[in-house]
This record gives sequence, C-alpha cells and structure tokens, in this order.
Amino acid sequence: MDPVAEVDQAQELLVDAKLQTSIDGLYAIGDIVSALNQISVAVGHAAIAATAIHQRLPPNYREDAAHQADRAAELPTPGD
Ligand SMILES: Cc1cc2nc3c(=O)[nH]c(=O)nc-3n(C[C@H](O)[C@H](O)[C@H](O)COP(=O)(O)OP(=O)(O)OC[C@H]3O[C@@H](n4cnc5c(N)ncnc54)[C@H](O)[C@@H]3O)c2cc1C
Repeated sequence: MDPVAEVDQAQELLVDAKLQTSIDGLYAIGDIVSALNQISVAVGHAAIAATAIHQRLPPNYREDAAHQADRAAELPTPGD
C-alpha cells in the first residue's frame, strides 16, 4: 500500500517546521498545508521548504560523478 501523509480534521496536510509531511522527503506548501490560507504564507512556506530540500541534497550535487552516472542509468533510452 502506498504511504499516506497525515492530515488534520480539515484534510489539510500536517507538516513540521520545515514543511515536511509525515512522509520523509515529501514537502508541502500553501493552501494544502494546515495553516492560514494567504499568499504571503504560501510564499514563506516555499522559501522554507526550498531551503530544507536544498540542505538535504548531497554536497556538489551537480558535480557528483557517481550520482550523475546513477541518474543517467535511470533515464529511458530513445526508442524504449
Ligand atoms: C476568492 C479568493 C480570494 C483570495 N484573496 C486573497 C487575498 O486577498 N490575499 C491573500 O493573501 N490570499 C487570498 N486568497 C488565498 C490565496 O489565493 C491562496 O492562499 C493562495 O493562492 C495559495 O496558493 P497555493 O499555490 O497553495 O494554491 P493555489 O493558488 O490554489 O494553486 C494550486 C494550483 O494547483 C492546481 N491543481 C490542483 N489540483 C491539481 C492537480 N491534481 N494536478 C495539477 N494541478 C492541480 C490548481 O489548478 C491551482 O492552479 C484568496 C483565495 C480566494 C479563493
């Protein structure tokens, strides 16, 4: 069964201080989150979540040759 993120009574996603849901690595922002529904809140959420995601990435993400090779192996081959 697929994992299901925790929600409040209004079916809005519960997140921690970094906007991560109960599913590791799944972040949520804006109206879908259990918080005040305003544009400024959504924008603030976005900044916090983006920073948290950035900080989770491995150092030198774009230059990590092993990671690049793994990613390349996952890409479909033309004609597949
Ligand atoms: C009438 C009204 C007036 C408002 N006035 C104000 C105001 O004056 N000031 C203020 O700060 N806030 C106001 N708000 C609240 C503000 O609009 C929201 O807080 C803000 O838009 C939330 O941004 P969001 O990106 O979380 O969601 P949204 O702006 O709702 O964006 C979600 C997007 O996801 C799309 N989507 C949904 N389901 C799917 C799917 N399955 N697949 C692909 N796309 C999907 C939707 O079409 C939409 O484009 C108002 C809201 C309403 C309804």
